[in-house]
Amino acid sequence: VETTEKHDTETAVPKKLSKGIVLGPDGKPCRTCNDVASLFAIAGKKPTTPSSTSTSSTAPTFPVDCPPDVEALGRSSWTLLHSITATYPTTPTPQLQSETKTFLSTFGKLYPCWVCAEDFQGWMSTNTPRVSSRSEFGTWMCEAHNAVNLKLGKQTFDCGRWEERWRTGWKD
Ligand code: FAD
Repeated sequence: VETTEKHDTETAVPKKLSKGIVLGPDGKPCRTCNDVASLFAIAGKKPTTPSSTSTSSTAPTFPVDCPPDVEALGRSSWTLLHSITATYPTTPTPQLQSETKTFLSTFGKLYPCWVCAEDFQGWMSTNTPRVSSRSEFGTWMCEAHNAVNLKLGKQTFDCGRWEERWRTGWKD
């Protein structure tokens, strides 16, 4: 086990195993910070392999009724966050704008993948939430998502089309 970084300055708990597995504050692999395939691998467990006669995908499958891994958590969280921007008023009151900023700050602290939360808070500190209209907020959220996409080596999304994806549906 590598102990190169500290998760918590008070308890000095190691942050990662040498295989890149992120640990939780208890020093065990953090379920919401790692993908299920990696967690199965370090536990020496095997996913279900669909039979060779199956017509569907031959990719290994993992149980669906388990606590979320980093990917399932991320997909549902982005669905919630983008849907919030999609239903946000076009002209929000000053009070709602203030509450929205508080929500984002609290969300950044409570997000259940702590490594993701730390980076998200860091990103927000230099990219202050823009919440003065639905259009601004939706674009800001798209940029936030793109920052994570870039970090993970994924394709970025065209933020000019966020409303089609999350509010109106695609134009034919
Ligand atoms: P997702 O990235 O979850 O996207 C879901 C759908 O959103 C896509 O299918 C696409 O249609 C749409 N979409 C994609 N990009 C955009 C965009 N820019 N704007 C609007 N719509 C878009 N995972 C980690 O491994 N490490 C991290 O540090 C990390 N940090 C995260 C921080 C936050 C705040 C959140 C909410 C999630 C984080 N995740 C992190 C999870 C990660 O972003 C993905 O959710 C996860 O990897 C699953 O990715 P996916 O390819 O299924 O699609």
